[in-house]
Amino acid sequence: QQTSPAQAEFYQAVEEVLDSLAPILESNTHYQQQAIIQRLVEPERQIMFRVPWVDDQGNIQVNKGYRVEFNSALGPYKGGLRFHPSVNASIIKFLGFEQIFKNALTGLPIGGAKGGSNFDPKGKSDGEIMRFCQSFMTELYRHIGPTTDVPAGDIGVGAREIGYMFGQYKRLTGRYEGVLTGKSLLWGGSLVRKEATGYGVVYFAENMLAVNNDSLKGKHCLVSGSGNVAIYAIEKLYQLGATPVTCSDSTGTIYHQAGIDLTLLKQLKEQSKTSLKAYLEYYKDAQFIALGDYPDDGHAVWRFNADAAFPCATQNELTLADAQALLINGCKLVSEGANMPSTQDAINAFIEAKICYGPSKAANAGGVATSQLEMAQNSSMQAWSFEQVDQRLQTIMENIFQTAHQTAVAFEQPGNLVLGANIAGFKRVADAMLEQGIV
Ligand code: NDP
Repeated sequence: QQTSPAQAEFYQAVEEVLDSLAPILESNTHYQQQAIIQRLVEPERQIMFRVPWVDDQGNIQVNKGYRVEFNSALGPYKGGLRFHPSVNASIIKFLGFEQIFKNALTGLPIGGAKGGSNFDPKGKSDGEIMRFCQSFMTELYRHIGPTTDVPAGDIGVGAREIGYMFGQYKRLTGRYEGVLTGKSLLWGGSLVRKEATGYGVVYFAENMLAVNNDSLKGKHCLVSGSGNVAIYAIEKLYQLGATPVTCSDSTGTIYHQAGIDLTLLKQLKEQSKTSLKAYLEYYKDAQFIALGDYPDDGHAVWRFNADAAFPCATQNELTLADAQALLINGCKLVSEGANMPSTQDAINAFIEAKICYGPSKAANAGGVATSQLEMAQNSSMQAWSFEQVDQRLQTIMENIFQTAHQTAVAFEQPGNLVLGANIAGFKRVADAMLEQGIV
């Protein structure tokens, strides 16, 4: 029952999961007798803290910090840190809740968590980013550890931020250990971690298509976002012979019928960290649709003809009207890189239309799975080759797809990967919780 309407995103995520659990709860009444749902929706622990820091002008700034340790039935808490002005308790709780099922689906020994801050890294100097990260870790360090809680990156948190946080953790504890993932390759990071979520989303799409002996080769694809996930989804799409024709950021959308120039995109977003509008300075045949010119009921990026769509920016970036436009324009596959990018209405439209729909908790699990591979390399003091990690990532994505696919078939809803992923993830966590008693 909804008791705090302020936590809109959290309730949206819970509702989506609970809706699809009905068949397993009805046929296995012991889950209800043991109050598994009531226990699952309540985080084991939520930490909220003050993050004071000093800006370049000498002013004291204060942000909110969060870590929600949601469920540790399957292993140490694992999930990213997000630095974005939109961050609040509802967003961190929804992300942490999703993470439980996603991590369970990977088959790896990791529990679910999420954290972050309403700090806005945009326009901040390197020194300001470092001071903020140090202050954030000055509180967080007492709650995390390599066998208890291992945070990673997310929106606004990449290798630079992980580096500053790791440095402060080491200074405070005197320990050099695998307490964060997404680290630099120079000191404990894993090859393929940077690419893993984007590559994984595309591998998941290939698995969905393979059921009908189809593939991404020759397909036109819409991609949203232009950050870590979007860039490496675009890279893998090209490697598999597809043509990504869009990308977007918080200022607008680029449409380039000839195909997005990946080298230019990396230069604009990874190096210069500038608005996508600058893409037009290099390509006169591309279009830029500014945020202010988006349709009232959705997003410009989903309004072009294409065979497949890859939402890779943020939550609720694909509305019912966007879904309808995609379906009318011939889209036959959606594979989600961002967390909860499609609204519930949009998801229902995809399922009703019986297109291939890969929900985020299954399709974007490649990132966290590779984080766990980074933990495994750290604790065994080894470093695996790019090919070794990529091969494991491909196997994990295929296993996640097969698990969701076969579970959907077993519950007589073939093709419904929302139901398949939710039930399979739930079953693994719930059974572990049952075996560990009432804790
Ligand atoms: P980045 O910070 O690297 O990139 C985010 C991208 O989305 C940027 O292009 C950003 O635009 C855009 N964006 C962010 N918020 C908004 C907004 N409110 N409105 C419009 N555009 C927005 O993040 P990631 O690529 O790492 O993450 C993207 C999504 O993928 C998130 O939902 C994240 O939770 C999810 N994810 C990430 C994983 C990872 O391994 N990184 C793992 C699993 C899921 P701009 O450039 O203008 O800021």
